[in-house]
Amino acid sequence: MVRLNEIRAGETAAALPAAPDAGVFFIGRIHTPWTDRLACPRQGRLDGPTCRIEVFAPWAPAGLEGMGQYEHLEVLYWLHLSRRDLLRQSPANDGSARGTFSLRSPVRPNPIGTSLVRLLGIEGTSLMVRGLDCLDGTPLIDLKPDRCAFTPVAPRQPGDDEVAT
Ligand code: SAM
Repeated sequence: MVRLNEIRAGETAAALPAAPDAGVFFIGRIHTPWTDRLACPRQGRLDGPTCRIEVFAPWAPAGLEGMGQYEHLEVLYWLHLSRRDLLRQSPANDGSARGTFSLRSPVRPNPIGTSLVRLLGIEGTSLMVRGLDCLDGTPLIDLKPDRCAFTPVAPRQPGDDEVAT
């Protein structure tokens, strides 16, 4: 059940720290058909509507060089309308709750959304893609080629079986 900003039965919230530990640069803006969270898909589909990822200067055009060779990209975006303080959430709004990090809910301390998208084409400093699930105007924070495009995995190293403490 899609939420706006309410706290539901069974949910708990934290007092947020006074200041963030780091900042992000919004490198662009995502244009989608959805202006209402209730109408937005929960997850994107590779056969979903064509969306436009606008990349701002100075990150484009130079930062987009080489992107055209990829069929699939990971898109990271800032779910800017989300509350950030919930520890336990009740996605079904049925009184039962689960920890925030066991969910892909947009409500999280750092409201980062990720989608694997199909790259349809590049038009100037915009990427045309399918597979998104965010509101029109959502800030863009990063673009990466799909990790499957990179092979091989590095060979095993001495110490790979040690446990970090
Ligand atoms: N695919 C991403 C992920 O798994 O990290 C996001 C999944 S999240 C469940 C998608 C939902 O976030 C949408 O259905 C919508 O309700 C909400 N949403 C989309 N854009 C948003 C925004 N800019 N701010 C807050 N919520 C947003």
